[in-house]
Amino acid sequence: MNSPKRNLSFFENVLLNFDNAASYTDHPKGLLEKIKTCNSIYSFHFPIRTQRGYETISGWRVEHSHHKLPVKGGIRYSEHVDEDEVKALASLMTYKCAIVDVPFGGAKGAVKIDPKNYTVHELEQITRRYTSELIKKNFIGPGVDVPAPDYGTGPREMAWIADTYAAFNPGQTDALACVTGKPVTEGGVRGRTEATGRGVFFAIREVCAYGDDMKKLGLTKGLEGKRVIVQGLGNVGYHAAKFCQEGGAIIVGIAEYEGAIYDEKGLDVDRVVKHRKETFSILNYPGATNIPKSSEALERECDILIPAALENQITEENAPRIKAKIIAEGANGPTSAAAEEILLKKNVLIIPDIYCNAGGVTVSYFEWLKNLSHVRFGRMGKRYEQATFDRLLVAVEHATGKSFSENERRAITRGADEIDLVNSGLEETMVSAYNEIREQVKRNTKIPDLRTAAFVEAINKVALAYLELGIFP
Ligand code: NAD
Repeated sequence: MNSPKRNLSFFENVLLNFDNAASYTDHPKGLLEKIKTCNSIYSFHFPIRTQRGYETISGWRVEHSHHKLPVKGGIRYSEHVDEDEVKALASLMTYKCAIVDVPFGGAKGAVKIDPKNYTVHELEQITRRYTSELIKKNFIGPGVDVPAPDYGTGPREMAWIADTYAAFNPGQTDALACVTGKPVTEGGVRGRTEATGRGVFFAIREVCAYGDDMKKLGLTKGLEGKRVIVQGLGNVGYHAAKFCQEGGAIIVGIAEYEGAIYDEKGLDVDRVVKHRKETFSILNYPGATNIPKSSEALERECDILIPAALENQITEENAPRIKAKIIAEGANGPTSAAAEEILLKKNVLIIPDIYCNAGGVTVSYFEWLKNLSHVRFGRMGKRYEQATFDRLLVAVEHATGKSFSENERRAITRGADEIDLVNSGLEETMVSAYNEIREQVKRNTKIPDLRTAAFVEAINKVALAYLELGIFP
């Protein structure tokens, strides 16, 4: 194949997707250029002392778009990361936030290390030093730039970042809002850890809810009974698999870096995790077939494939052999532009990353709001709601002569806790955003696929924000 889409870098893929979608809009060229350019790129190096001696570590923070502030995006720890990747990820964050109506610009950070090679103490040193580099250049702050977890980082790293920021900004009452994805005890919000995976599940469930769309793929309506393969059993992959399983799907395959397992009768996600903890590998899981070459799992029989590891996993090389009818992009950039061309010709429906994995930033937004308001969601209203429902039940009991049992009463009158409100907000966001994207395709029949539609939505929203700022009258 001699497609110009071959061998593009991650960032070039994003630019190509942008340009393709921009051709379906009528925004001025200058405005489109402004939207797609990365505004600020901070690349730096810092020393740390490990058990092996001094080491120089490379770090980045890229702020893609300041059309809304703060900018927002995760921090990745990976030995393979480079500036191109951080620029790509920062750009995707801008479009992602726009799609789910989260009022932030996009950003991304990275540290070029393999966390497995460092002790916890060394990781803490690296994280705190990385944070102080961001502070020095005003690349972090509740109203400036708010990082979050990504590949290789989690709540622990976010707590170190929050603590370092607070130490450099004594007395700043909103300091906790400088980073999201923190542990709940350190100002985090309930539901953030599982939010991206839960969002992937909501996205898949919504896509499968349209009988006509499913019919075109040769599938039945609904998630129930659909066979799913997941690549990456980390934060996003584990939670996406778990919620899909709870939603009635059958997890037939799981791939990790050490290999993959397949069982058409279905794998129990939590048992696989337990097996991996005990044996340090997902291989040899009872009843399942081992697939020693992990990437081959992507090509096995299934209805839905969830790549939730890293970018560039589905390429023009393996795309012809992919059997899934739906690809739900849990990871950022897992499908290359050249692979997408092949898959679309095969009538595969791709749920694009900029929508599919936006659950994380959605709940990060809720965490940021919680930190700024200094009050737990549900604290003010829960008991009041409960009392209102209780009065309503008493009225129903009087009117009907029926009395409710204690259990019924408790179930009906329960007021919303933080986790209920977070999950409800996430579900509403994912469902509405999908329907906006789907409508875009329905309205404009020239738009060929969901990724282009999602980019068009995002470009329109960011363009509007710039026009409202008066930058492009
Ligand atoms: P993670 O570090 O928690 O998990 C990633 C998992 O993938 C790890 O278990 C790793 O061993 C595995 N893996 C790596 N290479 C693999 C390979 N070649 N084959 C199979 N498995 C492999 O990271 P995460 O936070 O789950 O992020 C995964 C992806 O989701 C990334 O692309 C990230 O940018 C994206 N994402 C994450 C979030 C979030 O909230 N964490 C939000 C949006 C998007």
